Amino acid sequence: MIANSFEYSSPATLAEALGLIADGAKPLSGGMSLIPMMKLRLASPEHLVDLARLPELNYIREEHGELHIGAAATHHDVENAPLTRGKCPLLAETAAHIGDIQVRNRGTIGGSVAHADPAADYPAALQALEAKIVLRSASGERTVSTADFFIDTFTTALEPGEIVVEVIVPVEPGLTGTSYQKCLQPASGFAIVGVAARVRRDGDNFGPVQIGITGLTGTSYRATAVENALTGKPATEETIRAAAAHAADGVDANSDLHASAEYRASLAVSYTARAIRSALSRSA
Ligand SMILES: Cc1cc2nc3c(=O)[nH]c(=O)nc-3n(C[C@H](O)[C@H](O)[C@H](O)COP(=O)(O)OP(=O)(O)OC[C@H]3O[C@@H](n4cnc5c(N)ncnc54)[C@H](O)[C@@H]3O)c2cc1C
Repeated sequence: MIANSFEYSSPATLAEALGLIADGAKPLSGGMSLIPMMKLRLASPEHLVDLARLPELNYIREEHGELHIGAAATHHDVENAPLTRGKCPLLAETAAHIGDIQVRNRGTIGGSVAHADPAADYPAALQALEAKIVLRSASGERTVSTADFFIDTFTTALEPGEIVVEVIVPVEPGLTGTSYQKCLQPASGFAIVGVAARVRRDGDNFGPVQIGITGLTGTSYRATAVENALTGKPATEETIRAAAAHAADGVDANSDLHASAEYRASLAVSYTARAIRSALSRSA
């Protein structure tokens, strides 16, 4: 189907874009989710404002022990930039799992987090990384934690007139091992379940661990029961299996034509174990 007609603006500055958005225009980034929705007439915005061409949103830089990633950085940029590959390998690995090369060349990190698809990949990594998401409107800027940003299916903390301008992740301490493991829906590449793990060792035991899970339910989450069952325990296969068994604790798993709720929950357990094992093998 062909989308309804709409006005298109490609402003030269972020201030100009925010002004148009304050007046009711809708942000357009890679268009990888929005344009298909418009063609299916699931969305019919009257005015699109192109953010993807704004140099002010297109960067990956290091500042004070953190990586600042502009909203218009594409999945390809995040996957391949030396800064992300070298200093936040979990995010680069996660970006490499998104869709196909065409999607990664156009889709952006800002568009993905704003869209908040329950099967999107980034949210698992951003939960595990305890990332911060910077939001801006014509009247100001605020920073929210990943945990507060993702609220439910296609629902975030974004207020009308606000856009995502930046994602901030930590520079990974050298001893941390990280891994993203995903059971994908083969036609689209979206996650049926995706698990991001960050693991530090404390001698022969697990030190601090962070686990983020996507795909299982309406929104991504931190698997704190798994984390608590690992930290301080011997870094053994027995510990990993016992801890991973808690991956879906208290979660109302989604059921669809790709996977029943019960199957999804069991995938969450097995992919959590895989992610922990893989991250542990990469930790020093
Ligand atoms: C075939 C296919 C396969 C895919 N497979 C995967 C996959 O395996 N894993 C995965 O995670 N994703 C997948 N995607 C989705 C892809 O990652 C998209 O790039 C992403 O969901 C949206 O990013 P975008 O930049 O294209 O945003 P757009 O499509 O331009 O926008 C999406 C939504 O976010 C809003 N928006 C855009 N930018 C901002 C901003 N900066 N601030 C506030 N709101 C904004 C728009 O108004 C719109 O509502 C797939 C998409 C396709 C078409």
